[in-house]
This record gives sequence, C-alpha cells and structure tokens, in this order.
Amino acid sequence: MQYTSTRDNTLDLTFEDTLLSGMASDGGLYIPKEWPQLQAARLESFKEKHYANIAAYVIKQFCGESIPEEDLAHIIKETYNSHIFEHPDIAPLVQIDDEFWIMELFHGPTLAFKDYALQLLGRLFDYVLNKRGEKVTIVGATSGDTGSAAIEACRHCKNINIFILHPRGRTSEVQRKQMTTVNAPNVKNIALEGTFDDCQAIVKAMFADEKFRNDVNLSAVNSINWARICAQIAYYVTASVHLGPETPLSFSVPTGNFGNVFAAHCARNMGLNINQLVIGTNRNDILTRFFETGEMKKSVVTQTISPSMDIQISSNFERYLYELMDKNTSDLSRLMADFSKNGRMSVSDEKLKIAQSHFTAARCDEAQTLQTIADVYKNSGYILDPHSAVGVHAAKTTKPDGRVVSLACAHPAKFPDAVHKAIGKFPDMPERLAAVMDKTEFVTPLSNDLNITKNFVKSHI
Ligand SMILES: *Cc1c(COP(=O)(O)O)cnc(C)c1O
Repeated sequence: MQYTSTRDNTLDLTFEDTLLSGMASDGGLYIPKEWPQLQAARLESFKEKHYANIAAYVIKQFCGESIPEEDLAHIIKETYNSHIFEHPDIAPLVQIDDEFWIMELFHGPTLAFKDYALQLLGRLFDYVLNKRGEKVTIVGATSGDTGSAAIEACRHCKNINIFILHPRGRTSEVQRKQMTTVNAPNVKNIALEGTFDDCQAIVKAMFADEKFRNDVNLSAVNSINWARICAQIAYYVTASVHLGPETPLSFSVPTGNFGNVFAAHCARNMGLNINQLVIGTNRNDILTRFFETGEMKKSVVTQTISPSMDIQISSNFERYLYELMDKNTSDLSRLMADFSKNGRMSVSDEKLKIAQSHFTAARCDEAQTLQTIADVYKNSGYILDPHSAVGVHAAKTTKPDGRVVSLACAHPAKFPDAVHKAIGKFPDMPERLAAVMDKTEFVTPLSNDLNITKNFVKSHI
C-alpha cells in the first residue's frame, strides 16, 4: 500500500510515514494511491464476528508492510475491547424504527466518536516510535472533542509529548474538563484567545515551518492524519456487515472537518454497499452550501449548541476534492490557493453534479436541533446529543431510500443543558464523565500568537 500527497502525487510514502508526519510539507494531505477492495465473501463471513475482527480486516489493508499482521491484530485487540469501550459491540446499532438505526459511537473513554480512531492511533504511534527509538511532539487544535480524545490516547505513551489548543471559553464545561483535568507530565492544555479556526491556523503554521517541525519532531493527530480516517472506515463496514452487506445502506453523518463522512466515502470506494451519504451541518453550513452551489465560501464561525461542528474550514475536504479533480494536483492546488487567499473557490457544474451524486447535505439550526431531540425522544424514548440530532435532522430532511444509519457521535450527557432545553430533563451521567467534574484543571492561557505558542511548545518538551 502506497500513499501520496494531494498536492504532489509524485510522492511515494508508506503507512508508517503518513502516520508519523500527519501532513505533507507541501501543505497537502496524504491519500492512498489505490483503494483496496473489500471481498464480498469475507464480509459475509464476518456477520457474527466482533468489531475487532472486522476492524483488523479493514485496517490491515492500509498498513502494507509497515506493521506485521500479527502485531496489528494484537494492537487492534488491545484497542477495541470492553476495557476501553464500555459496550460489548463497541459501536452498537440501536433500531429506532423499521428502516432507521442509530450507530452509537460514544462508548470510549471520552464519550465521543473520536475515541474510535484515536485510541488506535495512540497505540500505533507508540508501537512505531518504540521500534524506531524516537520521540514526537503532537500538537493539535480542538473545538471540543478531539482534544480530550487525543489526550486520553497519548497520556500513557512515553514517546509522545502532546499539546492541545482549544479556543478559550468556546468549548462546553464538560469538554474542557475532560481535557484539562488530565495531570500527566507529557500533556499540556493551551486555552487560546480565539476561535477554533485560529487554533487550527496556528497548528498549520507550525507544520509549515520546517525548522520548527524538525526541531520538535512535530506530528499531528488532528483529523487530517490518515490513520484516523482509516480507523473510522471500520465502523461503516461493521454496520453494513451486521445489517446484511447485500442490502444498500445510507449513512447520515454530523459533519465538521469532513473526516468522518469522508471515511464513509472511502468505504464506498472500497466497494461497501452504500446508497447515500448524508452530510448534516449546523448553522456553520459551508459544506451544505458547497453541495447546493458548487462554491465553497468561508464565512464567520457561529457558536452553536453542537460546538464540535462550529467550523468554517473542513480540512479533510481536500482529500475529496483531489478525487473530484481527477487527481490533478495543479487544479487542486489552484483551488486551495484561491480558498486560502480569497476565502472562496468553486468547481464547474459538471464537477458539482458528480459531487451531488456522492453526497447530499442539509443544515440544521438551533431550533431544529432541539426539535429533533424532542421528536426522537417523544417517539422512541431515545435521547440524542445535539450533534447526533443534526445528523438525524439531515436524514429526515433528505430522506434517502431504504435503510438509514445515523451516527450518534457524542453521549447526550456531554451536552446536558441542550438536552434539558429540548426534553425538560437531564440525561443520566455515565460514571466515566462524573469522575472528571470535580478534579483540578491544568491549563495555560495564551494569546492568539504563533511565536508565543511555538516558544511555549519548545520550552515544555
Ligand atoms: C468531531 C465531531 C464531529 C465532526 O466530525 P468531523 O469528522 O470533523 O466531520 C461531529 N460530532 C462530534 C460530537 C464530534 O466530536
């Protein structure tokens, strides 16, 4: 299995290379050169099998020679088990009505779907770094859930120092405490005076600075890391296998950075029987506008009750655009340069039609989010968190034919106020979450400044 960069596809990389460096120095994202194909007979044989078996089958196809199959199987077993994920099915499917399921992706340590990729990523890093006798510095930006999931994944890794930037005052109290209450010498939380996009811009600028990058041996676990996408493909395959891989399935995905829904698209490129992929956005609807008009136009980030999707730049979208532009790196680079310079870029009507055949999209405002939580609760007794509600709303709006699986990306107890507003009661708080609420917080506030942030990182590794 070989990888290349979306901005220079003469590059040739292994899985291990993409894992450790996260992002190409040309500003592009790593992407497999070819899509491995799922074997129908194998999928059939997995019907009664555990998540870990299916994940091993999917993920090994992306590792190539980098990690021997036995070692990988071992790492995957250590990741997807009931000590780490508090549900025997790992990613259980809950049937809501005849043709509608919720896939719960909140049974990991931080109760949001990012655990599914990051718990694996932390272990893969440790394995590879150990083998090489190296250490890395991980710097990441988070609008809420990525940070805590990354910290949980790395806190025990002795070859990793991790710095997580969050926009000060713009994450929920629970989300903040899940990050800041971790007291480990290799973990540093930074509360930046700015938005999530400011945090992400600083992280990107650090990667663009080759000297700094080499000095600290910089690495990323943001959703641009290919291994995260790769790990996420596994739950789409698992859902399809468990519901019957011969029946086409649509997925509705609450979307921010386009990582999760892109993983579904990868599964489709691998031959998974997928009908529609539905993108749910909140009022930060840049993706929905793109799929309506073919123009991607940045506007200001609005704070919503689904903060993990309060994003105006969907980093992973570049991977899809690369495919849409027929792997033409100069066309892609021009689009990305337009977007970064003018805050807008657009594709031809012909390309828009192709994109619309791959994805449908719908936006969901605050009132609709609350209404969806209330409706689903009234009809089925099931409590959605606000992000998951955005996905369910998108599924109900776009009405794909046949069976639909909507992704529940966070536990409702992470957003108790929104849930209370919608249904008049608080969701039960799982023990894992209750435990962080009273602990001391460890966090450094920094101004929105690249050099100050770089110096902080340098002086703490
Ligand atoms: C990160 C996150 C999202 C958005 O996922 P992307 O992969 O960035 O599109 C949605 N919901 C929750 C709860 C999240 O944590």
